[in-house]
Amino acid sequence: MLRGKVAVVTGSTSGIGLGVLKELAAAGAKVVMNDHLDNTEDHDQVAEIAKQYETEGVYIRADMSKADECAALIEQAREKFGKVDILVNNAGIQHVEKIEEFPPQKWELILSINLSSSFYTIRSVMGQMKEQKWGRIVNIASAHGLTASPYKSAYVAAKHGVVGLTKTVGLEGAEHGVTCNAICPGYVWTPLVEGQLEDQMKAHGKDRDWVIREVLLTRQPSKEFATVEQIGQTAVFLCTDAASQITGTTISVDGGWTAL
Ligand code: NAD
Repeated sequence: MLRGKVAVVTGSTSGIGLGVLKELAAAGAKVVMNDHLDNTEDHDQVAEIAKQYETEGVYIRADMSKADECAALIEQAREKFGKVDILVNNAGIQHVEKIEEFPPQKWELILSINLSSSFYTIRSVMGQMKEQKWGRIVNIASAHGLTASPYKSAYVAAKHGVVGLTKTVGLEGAEHGVTCNAICPGYVWTPLVEGQLEDQMKAHGKDRDWVIREVLLTRQPSKEFATVEQIGQTAVFLCTDAASQITGTTISVDGGWTAL
């Protein structure tokens, strides 16, 4: 379905990014795995995925908190495969704390990784996508791009920013065959959520089961976590011809959260 296409997925060594990368590879795309750590296992991991789906794959290290490294990621992907057709901005971190105690460095870091990195990667790829008259940009936002929760000021602000960026880029690409959309997951079971569990237990002074029931899934009417495969398959759908007229918008995969 995506044979011959080249896909870059930021922050794709674990969780949702890895799920998206696997589904893109399964659909035939050549894939670029990224994070800021350069672990040998991740070079092996992407090679194995590529082999499994009879495509090509490479790991490129780049820290999404740094503007020049975001641009370098796109440049290196292009050097390797000649072009970038699909860009999935997924890298993201979380910090949960009352705003009066929220560390300013955390605010800056979350804004840079969760929002500004998407600006820098899109800025680097847009000209080439417009020229080839085909491009798919998928931003992994969040239900927190559409609604808020206490103690997540930086994350909620960044994700609302991603939704705004998505609309703008959707408009700029509209006449050029380039779509830009945001997927807004509710809770998906990943290491990021597992990390939040600890923070939420501290913030609320409650145990694991209470936090899962009353905090994490309290606003997810399905009472189930979404899966990384479901997010990956939604991203693949946005890259198909069936989705060529879907642009500048959001798709919620949140078990009904934002319908409440
Ligand atoms: P995760 O912690 O499992 O994975 C995050 C990935 O980003 C990892 O590969 C990590 O190495 C990478 N990363 C972290 N800092 C980086 C940096 N500076 N540069 C490059 N890569 C970096 O998290 P996840 O749950 O899979 O979340 C992925 C995205 O999905 C995030 O943008 C998150 O906000 C969003 N999201 C997650 C959920 C959820 O429930 N898990 C819900 C809504 C949105």
